[in-house]
Amino acid sequence: MKEFAVRNLRLCTKDCLCLYVCPTGASDTENSVIDTDKCIGCGACARACPSGAISLVPVRMPPQQRKSPEVIAAMNALAAQKEACRALAATLANGARGGERAFFGAVARSCSLTTEDIYREAGYMLPQSGNVHKLLLSIAAGKDEKAAALADRLLALLPVNDR
Ligand code: SF4
Ligand code: SF4
Repeated sequence: MKEFAVRNLRLCTKDCLCLYVCPTGASDTENSVIDTDKCIGCGACARACPSGAISLVPVRMPPQQRKSPEVIAAMNALAAQKEACRALAATLANGARGGERAFFGAVARSCSLTTEDIYREAGYMLPQSGNVHKLLLSIAAGKDEKAAALADRLLALLPVNDR
């Protein structure tokens, strides 16, 4: 399976071992983003990195497991409830002070993470899946020009593995 390396900038401590071991110079870039045109997926950088900041990801991901329409509908309903909870907690946090503000803020963040997780489980797990492709098409056709431009870029980059 063809892979390429990605660097997690939050973990990178910039000691540059990856630059010395890379046979193609793919990890030596101005913006710290590994050059996927040059990367051959050998993994030398990931093995050398003392911070665990580099992972190898497959260029083409396997199709995600299918779920029944009933399961997807139930998960979407649950995600909608969590989103309503997030919105309520965020509103309460805005009007609160001190400990209450921190509490409602934490509830809002927790709901947001759970919603994200449920949507992933409901079928938005892999960026190369057909349903993510459909979602990007709808954003690209939307009124938000900035979001549409970003969606167009992603559509051009991402193959679809389960139409
Ligand atoms: S070896 Fe790891 S920590 Fe060092 S610069 Fe490379 S990615 Fe960052
Ligand atoms: S996987 Fe190999 S080619 Fe790609 S950046 Fe790491 S060392 Fe360089």
